[in-house]
Amino acid sequence: QVRVRFAPSPTGALHIGGVRTALYNYLFAKKNGGKFLLRIEDTDQARFVPGAEGYIKDALDWLGISPDESPWKPGDSGPYRQSERKEMYMQYAQDLLDKGHAYYAFDTAEELEAMRQRLTAARVVSPQYNSITRTQMKNSLTLPADEVKARLESGEPYVIRIKIPRKEEIRLNDMVRGWVMVHSNSLDDKVLMKSDGMPTYHLANIVDDHLMKITHVIRGEEWLPSAPLHVLLYRYLGWEDSMPEFAHLPLLLKPDGNGKLSKRDAEKHGFPLFPMDWKDPITGEVSEGFKEAGYLPEAFLNFLAFLGWNPGDHREIFSMEELTEAFSVERIGKSGTKFDINKAKWYNEQYLRKKPDTVLASYLSRDLKKEGITISDEKAEKIASVMKERATFPADLWKEGRFMIFAPEAFDPQVAAKRWNRDAVEVLKTYREKLSRLEGPMDADTAKNLLENAAQEKEIKLGKVMQAVRLAITGVGAGPDLMQVFEILGREELIKRIDFALN
Ligand code: GLU
Repeated sequence: QVRVRFAPSPTGALHIGGVRTALYNYLFAKKNGGKFLLRIEDTDQARFVPGAEGYIKDALDWLGISPDESPWKPGDSGPYRQSERKEMYMQYAQDLLDKGHAYYAFDTAEELEAMRQRLTAARVVSPQYNSITRTQMKNSLTLPADEVKARLESGEPYVIRIKIPRKEEIRLNDMVRGWVMVHSNSLDDKVLMKSDGMPTYHLANIVDDHLMKITHVIRGEEWLPSAPLHVLLYRYLGWEDSMPEFAHLPLLLKPDGNGKLSKRDAEKHGFPLFPMDWKDPITGEVSEGFKEAGYLPEAFLNFLAFLGWNPGDHREIFSMEELTEAFSVERIGKSGTKFDINKAKWYNEQYLRKKPDTVLASYLSRDLKKEGITISDEKAEKIASVMKERATFPADLWKEGRFMIFAPEAFDPQVAAKRWNRDAVEVLKTYREKLSRLEGPMDADTAKNLLENAAQEKEIKLGKVMQAVRLAITGVGAGPDLMQVFEILGREELIKRIDFALN
């Protein structure tokens, strides 16, 4: 059975790249009738941020990609927080020590720094603790056995490092990138167990993926450089046969395509980068989220799915079911994906327009209530139905449609300077007269006929004065179908507004 996991570290808000990783894992699991797990990777106590875990849960729930197993919905392979699995890791580090694939190291921070400086002075580009440099350091490979024993017994702090072999080619077949080959000389002897008794990400990740029977590791490209080390760990622990397959997802790039998408870009270009609002518990700084900005979860999800994947044809609108059906790792791109916020807006518009008018009306009424305004459901529905073609977010129904409820107090001076003229005044006067004599209801068609008659009577081309008429009634030069607006306003209100404009 397919089992995948999303393994965030609770070091801050979940970024859009992280949610995309979660979504792809979710889709892959659902497509293959498998399970989607969530594991909290919190071995780095120093970087732990309170609130981050709850945020991850809320964000995934909002998008409807809740995991099948997680700290808050445990299955058979718990616990789902690495901090609660602490006791499990040492035995595997011990196994590696016993097999000679790992060793103790006693170097102090100062000694490590001195080594780094020595190597830099000798023009070594990236100084590493490796098969060459380890021979000059304090570890169980260089110190006599009884000294190592004495140091361990005296409680001296130590770390356990992996012993990377010399001159070995490590290969892995990535589902997205194909064969990846790395020479072991470029890897360093990474720490597996820290001096505080906690495993590092690398050891914990491999042990947990093995124990949780993960079949596919789908994660961001920033982890590709670690993958060869992970392959070695599987091999040395004797788990190579059940090693998961890897799929490394392409980077998300800045809107202009130059480099990795960052928080700075979001600040500079003013778009959200997080699924929901995030208040940093340390700085108190709030970053806007897609949810609060007015994105609908279905639209955001659809946008997210296309950040690095495509179905291979021209379809763009996909429900969750359709995504699950169409998704395949083969169609994930190798190169980075440009982040285009306009595409996200476009998706939101598509999904907003598809909502029933009753739902849109409820959004509108909710926003109006905040301002202490109540309107009938019928009116709210009508406003929503004419405004939806022009709205990107639910809030636009109100922001752009204010004039449907409040008569203009002023008129856009630029439009007035260009469009207001004698002809418009003549037509409006005649139109007012006709409206006041009208018996029975005034729907959009009637409103239109009367206006056409008024223009004809004055021998004025309606097209020439149309924008002035719009200005008189709404105060602005553009908006939805004017006759629909007239119908919503009703005859009395229309007359009142014409009078105000003509005075
Ligand atoms: N804890 C890692 C992260 O925060 C997980 C990487 C992986 O999926 O292996 O992204």
